[in-house]
Amino acid sequence: MDTINSISYPVIFKDTLTQLVNFIEQGNYSRFFILTDEHTGEHCLPLLQERLEHLNNSYDVIEVNAGEESKNIDFCAGIWKMLIDFGADRHSLMINLGGGVIGDMGGFAASTYKRGIDFVQVPTTLLSQVDASVGGKTGIDFDNLKNIIGTFTQPKAVFIEPAFLQTLPQRQILSGYAEMLKHGLIQDAAYWSELKGADINAAPAPELVYQSVAIKNKVVVDDPFEKGFRKCLNFGHTVGHAVETYSLLNDGSKHLTHGEAIAIGMICEAWLSHKNAGLTTDELNEITTVLNNLYPRYELDETCHSVLHSLMKTDKKNQNGNINCTLLNKIGECSIDHICTEEELCDSLRYYAG
Ligand code: NAD
Ligand code: ZN
Repeated sequence: MDTINSISYPVIFKDTLTQLVNFIEQGNYSRFFILTDEHTGEHCLPLLQERLEHLNNSYDVIEVNAGEESKNIDFCAGIWKMLIDFGADRHSLMINLGGGVIGDMGGFAASTYKRGIDFVQVPTTLLSQVDASVGGKTGIDFDNLKNIIGTFTQPKAVFIEPAFLQTLPQRQILSGYAEMLKHGLIQDAAYWSELKGADINAAPAPELVYQSVAIKNKVVVDDPFEKGFRKCLNFGHTVGHAVETYSLLNDGSKHLTHGEAIAIGMICEAWLSHKNAGLTTDELNEITTVLNNLYPRYELDETCHSVLHSLMKTDKKNQNGNINCTLLNKIGECSIDHICTEEELCDSLRYYAG
């Protein structure tokens, strides 16, 4: 467990913060910026700043409000403005210290500022360590649509530090765990079996995090721009993103986490997989039981089906107006580009509702 080579950059697991400092020192950057949110500013920044004390390079901290509500054009414009005010030039470096929101928005802000400056990801949530930080997708939400504006821009490096997970609330641990379970379901049955029996009252073992990154990385290296098989990573996300957006619109600050929404999406899409792609009844029951035991139930009655369906129609994976899903042929194996009808999708929501 050391370094994984991704598309054009290393994902570093060992002596992470030392390696980050070395990276900054060797990079010849004119200056650097650390993007945080209010929580990572409090819990993670001090750990990093201790290591930066002896550096000669000057740096500034840019802090935004925490949460998905900040992942929008207004906060992004705020970051651009701060970069201008701080005099960021093309040889500046942006360090995204935070969860998927900071990684996605910071990556987007960096990839567009002065036509692109270097950035590195220092993911501090489990979700961003196992998923969001690797693969080069940057972006923001717009017009109530998730990640609708963005770029494929690779970071210069990703630094995965287990110590950051110590302060992460359990609900956020479980959110990231959903993506780990997804990685097992789509690519590795043994990994799924290991995860479904693991104790997740605390952060998972670094080895399990590493395995998840390795699975995701293999997929994105083979298909960096999501022309084909990378869509397998979207298992659970066609329904899940719609549920997530629905919850953001309806539940205010009490909205579902990304992982909670994806867990619901995975149950629905496992049902679709049973119907259309070969997943057996036993496998469907197993997936449903594991996910329902880990994640809170969420009310999705008939009245929300049409809203959810409209949201699914805006999914970026769709082609020619058809809603496309990644489905499981069996646990550990999947196939992409299954067209699902409105009726099937609503039936899958009924299956979830029980
Ligand atoms: P997040 O960034 O909002 O973080 C969740 C919460 O945890 C926030 O309140 C944050 O302040 C707090 N937090 C972060 N690190 C902490 C720490 N170490 N200690 C205490 N609190 C901490 O959300 P997330 O779940 O990390 O990411 C979700 C986002 O990631 C979504 O916007 C999703 O679209 C995106 N995403 C992107 C990709 C991709 O490939 N780019 C993949 C998956 C998800
Ligand atoms: Zn996801």
